[in-house]
Amino acid sequence: MPSNVGGCGKDPMPELPEVETTRRLLDPLVVARTVTGVEVPGRRVLRRHERPTDLPDRLEGRRIERTDRVGKFLLMGLEGDLTWVIHLGMSGRLTVVAHDAPETPHTTLEAAFEDGSALRFVDPRTFGWSAVWTPQEVAASPLARLGPDALEAPPDVEGFARRLEGRRAPIKSLLLDQTVIAGLGNIYADEALHRARISPRRPAGRISRRRLGLLLAAIEDVLDAALAAGGTSLDDMAYLLPDGRAGDYMTELRVYGRGGEPCLGCHQTLRSATIGGRTATWCPRCQR
Ligand SMILES: [Zn+2]
Repeated sequence: MPSNVGGCGKDPMPELPEVETTRRLLDPLVVARTVTGVEVPGRRVLRRHERPTDLPDRLEGRRIERTDRVGKFLLMGLEGDLTWVIHLGMSGRLTVVAHDAPETPHTTLEAAFEDGSALRFVDPRTFGWSAVWTPQEVAASPLARLGPDALEAPPDVEGFARRLEGRRAPIKSLLLDQTVIAGLGNIYADEALHRARISPRRPAGRISRRRLGLLLAAIEDVLDAALAAGGTSLDDMAYLLPDGRAGDYMTELRVYGRGGEPCLGCHQTLRSATIGGRTATWCPRCQR
């Protein structure tokens, strides 16, 4: 993944709050709908299937029973024990439109419903993907290797400490590791570390339980606030809500994308550096 010195636009953008916001808005528009047709203008979106025909074959004629999310994956439970998985990648967004609505540029997948509406997956950079999996395929997929969901099932301090025990990698890298805790990306990891006053470089296994408790509380606060704002739409506006609105959390970011600007807590200049291949931004005075 490219680093993004200076800021915005190159991180896999939809993180947990953006995917969850999308899920909540989509839920009433797709649950109990039956897929009547599938179009795949962007074949790359099916690259997780060995046979690209599996997705349309499995979707057509099937009813969506529920929506769900784990980490950054949006899931739709289908009748017949199949799971429709969508990963928004770096720039993907989902929208529900009338099936005969004018084409949206960069549409990679569209599923039409029996009521004349359609779910459209729009993804200019094509890092996103979609699959319809059997329970066996889910069990063999990255979904099965995810750590606890940062919002729905966050670890307690003891559980978190066990996951980090003996790990010398910087805490920032492990917050981004979806097998440790699922859902955080570069934005919310930087924001949580700043609120918890922990340096992103600190070896993860050497953080006290007291400070891990502060970090878990900071993760919860950041995710709750971001959800309340509808997520973060950065300057590039790659992420938008399904109804076209922007997420408002960008105005509340304290460190992400602010390298070289003053810390809002102590006015020290915020630092940016690459940690584990990704840009971290932090306050060298507040965060130890
Ligand atoms: Zn500071």
